[in-house]
Amino acid sequence: MDIIEFDEAYKIVMNSAFSTGTETISFKDSLNRVLARDIRSDMDIPPFNKATVDGFACRKADLGVELEIIETIAAGIKPEKSISESQCSRIMTGATIPEGADIVFMIEDSQIMDSGKVKFTGLFSKENISFKGEDIKNGDTVLKSGKLIRPQDIAVMATVGCTSVIAGKMPVIAVISSGDELVEPSEKPGISQIRNTNAYQLLAQIKRSGANGKYLGIARDDEEVTYNILMQAISESDIVLITGGVSMGDFDFVPSVIERAGVRILFSSIKVQPGKPTTFGVHPDTLVFGLPGNPVSSFIQFELLVRPLIYKMMNCHWEPLTINLPMQRSYSRKSTDRQSWIPVAITQEGMVTPMEYHGSAHISALTSADGIIAIQVGKKTLEKGEIVSVRQI
Ligand code: AMP
Ligand code: MG
Repeated sequence: MDIIEFDEAYKIVMNSAFSTGTETISFKDSLNRVLARDIRSDMDIPPFNKATVDGFACRKADLGVELEIIETIAAGIKPEKSISESQCSRIMTGATIPEGADIVFMIEDSQIMDSGKVKFTGLFSKENISFKGEDIKNGDTVLKSGKLIRPQDIAVMATVGCTSVIAGKMPVIAVISSGDELVEPSEKPGISQIRNTNAYQLLAQIKRSGANGKYLGIARDDEEVTYNILMQAISESDIVLITGGVSMGDFDFVPSVIERAGVRILFSSIKVQPGKPTTFGVHPDTLVFGLPGNPVSSFIQFELLVRPLIYKMMNCHWEPLTINLPMQRSYSRKSTDRQSWIPVAITQEGMVTPMEYHGSAHISALTSADGIIAIQVGKKTLEKGEIVSVRQI
């Protein structure tokens, strides 16, 4: 099978997306989920004219005179009295503005006289009133279908009383690591062994993307073992990620096992670095990725291909956050036949600086990186000062 351009691989993956459907969940569990219906407000917000400071509510025209204090209005309490000429009510932040008042001057700008009256001592006062419906009107659409839910969206749901939401179902994503050299992180690796990095990195990436990761363990470099675990994964999930075993070595069975499992392979090699041997195929109800064994490769290919797929399956219009900034220094690479992604940091001055990066096994290069940048096919050097697009990771 031919090596393909990254953009083509991306299109193939995105065109293979299927919807996971919707479900009703509590708004409290909706973080990182995708809204499947618009949410409207059932009331004006604020629901009443509200004091935004602690102070005295009166008529603007009376700011120059000593005012009789006729009541104290706490938040949550309905005012009993309306304000007439030369009167005011002591009022707390969040309390309802009494009838007749059109301004609240701050307690810091007031002086209580011996007579018990109060005087405005400032030079100028803002209104300090938040008016009924000025933030949200009854019936307004406050959150749109397709939105990825963040904490501030949950704040809006709470405010408008939306306690259950219809959200895209989380795709179930099975994660398998392959390799005889792997031991789990809690173990001390023996001679020629390493710890299983990928599974835990991928499970965290899955969680961050709002999907439901399911770890199926380490498959030994044995065709039968790999086949059995892959069949289990396909039957239990919407997406399967199997890492390792996709290179050209004697024990790299993954592509052949994927085929034997009835998966139609759509590509097995991309002009991208890291991640060239990334393999992708479709089974009637499951999409299968063979990701490279090196952790930086699997991390980056997850970000570039799997994450956008997850969002699409949840019906989210997601674009990665990118920011255009100049290179602090030039960066050159040797070969130009693939699209390269390299980890970078953003300096205090807003310049992009490549991290020390030894290649796709150098996992610690990603921990201090703010993002990754691409160098397109055919391009050898990013010049100092050149504007690059940093993709947040
Ligand atoms: P492979 O694709 O199986 O040839 O693996 C490529 C490289 O990635 C080898 O150096 C493997 O030891 C390493 N590798 C494979 N799987 C993992 C894993 N789960 N965690 C860390 N490194 C891995
Ligand atoms: Mg291997």
